[in-house]
Amino acid sequence: MPDRSGELAVNAMPHSTQTHASVTGSAGGVLTVDLGAIARNYRALVAQAGGAAVAGVVKADAYGLGMAQVAPVLLEAGCRTFFVAHLSEALALRPILPEGLEIFVLNGLLPGDERLCAETDIRPVLNSLDQVEAWSEAGRSLGRPLPAAIQVDSGMSRLGLAPAEVEALNASPERLRGIDTVLVMSHLACGDEPDHPANAAQLAAFRALSDRLPRARRSLANSAGLFLGDAFRFDLARPGIALYGGAPTGGRPNPMMPVVRLDARVIQLREVPAGAGIGYGFTAVAERAMRLATLSVGYADGWLRSASNRGAVFYAGRKLPIVGRVSMDSVIVDAGDAPVRAGDLVELIGPHASLDAAAAAAGTISYEILTSLGSRYERRYISNNAAGERA
Ligand SMILES: *Cc1c(COP(=O)(O)O)cnc(C)c1O
Repeated sequence: MPDRSGELAVNAMPHSTQTHASVTGSAGGVLTVDLGAIARNYRALVAQAGGAAVAGVVKADAYGLGMAQVAPVLLEAGCRTFFVAHLSEALALRPILPEGLEIFVLNGLLPGDERLCAETDIRPVLNSLDQVEAWSEAGRSLGRPLPAAIQVDSGMSRLGLAPAEVEALNASPERLRGIDTVLVMSHLACGDEPDHPANAAQLAAFRALSDRLPRARRSLANSAGLFLGDAFRFDLARPGIALYGGAPTGGRPNPMMPVVRLDARVIQLREVPAGAGIGYGFTAVAERAMRLATLSVGYADGWLRSASNRGAVFYAGRKLPIVGRVSMDSVIVDAGDAPVRAGDLVELIGPHASLDAAAAAAGTISYEILTSLGSRYERRYISNNAAGERA
């Protein structure tokens, strides 16, 4: 990978869904992704994992940041196992990675996908007995054991084999013929709340259930799970959000490096008198004469409507509160007497507004902000502070 230290590179390759907004200045906002920070976060999580391997979760286009850009950075940082949610994502990832690296599909095996998965060396996470049966049949008909993960439901009630289904496999191990069980995994429901009793309960359930399945690597921890203590690490951790700079644990200082900076362009300034209605539905009315700035991002850019009259942006360190409703393509802020002009950029996420703070202001979580960002931003991939970080 070329050394990109300090370089401010506008991405030359079009983003998968991006067909426009590649000319600097024409987009409504600029999304800057620090790939060096992702690499550093990966290495920090490796240190945190204390000997367990660390996979990279790159589902949903690497949480909206661009799987094609992020996966090679994780690879370079030492990542050898990748998780996506859908087979289509795995197929997009496969040619990006060197042969032989593991790709798991979290959402399981859909009927009819068996051949394609097997031929492309993509490993399904088997979440039900039907999926176990289909994969077993595929392996037997191809005459070679096919690698897969088996997920058990240790208490979240979302995906994976229920305890009775694990018992059924334990009682009839021939049902696993044709399957090379390379990983047994489960997922935590409350990992970001370290004191929640569900964590210990899921840990105990995972141990008991995985003991009833073929010996394989085991995996329980997502980002949050990596911070719950040694017992949660097992053989492989599966962090996503922490790689991308989100806080792994709620209510605690965020140990991860920020990855994302988001700026929006000011497209108009106006002075309005006291009593002026502001935005759709007049949910805000000027109490005094006001100077307003209209920004060229809206909920279609993932600047969520729930931030209406709640969130804020920053200009040269000054806080400019959102007034009125967030529209599809624009949002209005109170510019006060800040020296902001049309064409300027204001900070939505950055040094003054962390990803988690911006999410909280919209009543949501960092995951939803990142995965909602959409394709209209000008995307800049940079690599700050990456030099000399290699152990
Ligand atoms: C999304 C996901 C992860 C990654 O979770 P983070 O909280 O982003 O670290 C890990 N495992 C499973 C099963 C997931 O669905």
